[in-house]
Amino acid sequence: PSLDALIADLAVDVPDFPSPGVVFRDLTPVFADGPAFRRVVEGLAAPSLVDPRAAALAAGGAGPGYDLVVGVEARGFLLAAAVALDTGLGVVPVRKAGKLPRERLSADYSLEYGTATLEVHTDSIRPGQRVLVVDDVLATGGTLAAAITLVEGLGGIVTAVSVVVELAALGGRQRIAPHTVHSLWST
Ligand code: 5GP
Repeated sequence: PSLDALIADLAVDVPDFPSPGVVFRDLTPVFADGPAFRRVVEGLAAPSLVDPRAAALAAGGAGPGYDLVVGVEARGFLLAAAVALDTGLGVVPVRKAGKLPRERLSADYSLEYGTATLEVHTDSIRPGQRVLVVDDVLATGGTLAAAITLVEGLGGIVTAVSVVVELAALGGRQRIAPHTVHSLWST
């Protein structure tokens, strides 16, 4: 099957989670299926996802179009680590507030109710490094927007953003613009 059909087949819709009226797309069965997980990881890592603007900046360079993989806590960690191994690159965690032990940069973002904070170690990305940001689901885009803010705040260049599933009706793609989001399944 095509990759989007495979993901759609394995993902499980959970009504009223984490709160009434929300349908949660549970991707853990996709990750638990070895061949599906491999295809997902290769899809997230694919060089064709590189943002055209950043690709122009990086013109002439070989490789996947990024130098480092950033994963967003927590499901993004599973994916980013696998992409890093697949590409031979390093992986950097963007974490919820209070988890990272050393000097860190913080970015607040809004949730449906209230706000949350993401953080990154200030020495984890060097200025000019090209970064792929990975998460499992793009919903409203607030989480990825905050992660992008952190990478750029350290001087990194976000050349690509990859997610497994994009909930298109929630407008996350617009929120991330002008960055291009590469989603393996848009629903
Ligand atoms: P956003 O900030 O784009 O509104 O929400 C995206 C974040 O919330 C991601 O980190 C993602 O893991 C989580 N999320 C939101 N909705 C879902 C969902 O339906 N399924 C899963 N697996 N995660 C979700």
